[in-house]
Parts: sequence; structure tokens; C-alpha cells
Amino acid sequence: MAKDDPDLRRVDPYADIWSFASSWVRRLHGAPEKNVMERFIYLWVTVNAWAAMAVADRARNHMDTYLVHSLAIDSCFNERFSELLKSNIVFNQKVIRFIQLLPVFKVLWIRNVGLVGWEPDREVRAEFVKRAREMNPIESDRKGNKYPAFAPVCAFRHIDRGEAVPADWPHVISSIYMVRCNLFHGGKDYQSERDRIFVSLASEILWTMWRLEIPKGVIREKH
Ligand SMILES: [Zn+2]
Repeated sequence: MAKDDPDLRRVDPYADIWSFASSWVRRLHGAPEKNVMERFIYLWVTVNAWAAMAVADRARNHMDTYLVHSLAIDSCFNERFSELLKSNIVFNQKVIRFIQLLPVFKVLWIRNVGLVGWEPDREVRAEFVKRAREMNPIESDRKGNKYPAFAPVCAFRHIDRGEAVPADWPHVISSIYMVRCNLFHGGKDYQSERDRIFVSLASEILWTMWRLEIPKGVIREKH
């Protein structure tokens, strides 16, 4: 990814955002563990609001792609990710599991092309990815611009080289963002066990990464 923007600024512990964030983190902690979808929504709302404050160019903070790009290139997040991968075995295992599931396809695209969804009990992930690829997972907008209906966008370049998608922060956060889009736009069908796996891994990885931004004493953690 191009390094065309400076890193995120760390948000002042006295900024208003923390009272907003703490109310959402309380909801996150208050939701039952099994409500993975609900918990991820609370987390995303919080991280999104925080990132809108932290980005270098606040005039663009309404653009999700800009927020996600800023998160992806931030050196602090990148270093933290590598550090956690080495020092936190639970985090490491969740990242490896998440990477093995990539790419994340857009559920609306899957539905639009009539692709039979992945059933983890009946099909290995690689077989599903192959089936999906045969359906040409590219979408066009009205101007004819084309967009991959999956994340990360380079997934097939890695697969064609016979390698896994790299277990690093930029690949992981762009995939987490696709999980978020699926959850927010996927509608009532987005409920199955398969979707829960993605949401639960995305949520736990993002929480472990982002919670370290919370200034001491701002939110009492019990996660
Ligand atoms: Zn890549």
C-alpha cells in the first residue's frame, strides 16, 4: 500500500471521544459472549469513531476506505501486530485461523451471483474459494470502475504463487473491514455458523489490537 498519508495521531486521553468510546465499550463488555455479531458492531462503532479523530486529514474522515487505509499503514499498529504475533499465543492462533479463511468474499456478491455459500462441515475452504473464483468475483459500478468482491485484494496473487496470504496487519485489517461490510450490509441472512467464525475472529483480533489505544483509567476493562 502507498505510504501517502502520515500515521494516525494518538488521541488525547481527555478528548471527548473517550466518553463516547467508553459507553460503547461498556455495551461490548455487557453483551453476552455468544452474541458475536452484536459485540463486533459495538467494537466497530468505537474503533471507527476513534479512527475518525486520529486520522491525519479529518476532512476525509467520513470515508471508510481512508480510515481503513490509515489504520493499515500506521506504523504503531504494524509494530504492535508483529509483537502480539510473537508474544501472545492466543492472538497468534486466531490470526493464523483467520488467514486460512481468506479471502473474505462479499456476501451480497455471493447472493447476487447465486453462489452456494461455504459450509465448513462439508467443504474445505480452499474448494469454496476455487468455486467462488470461477464465478469471477469482480463488481463494476455505474462508471465502469471495477472492484474485487473480496478482501484482501491481493489474495489470488498469493494463492497463485502457492503461498498463504501474509499474516500482517495491512492484510488482516482490510479483511476485517470486509467482514464488517458483510455484517452491516449482509442483512438477515448473515447469521450462519460460517459467518459467526469470521465475525468472532475479526472481532477478537481487532479488540486485542485496538484496546491498547485506550488511555489508562478511561475505561475499566474486564475483557
Ligand atoms: Zn498481499
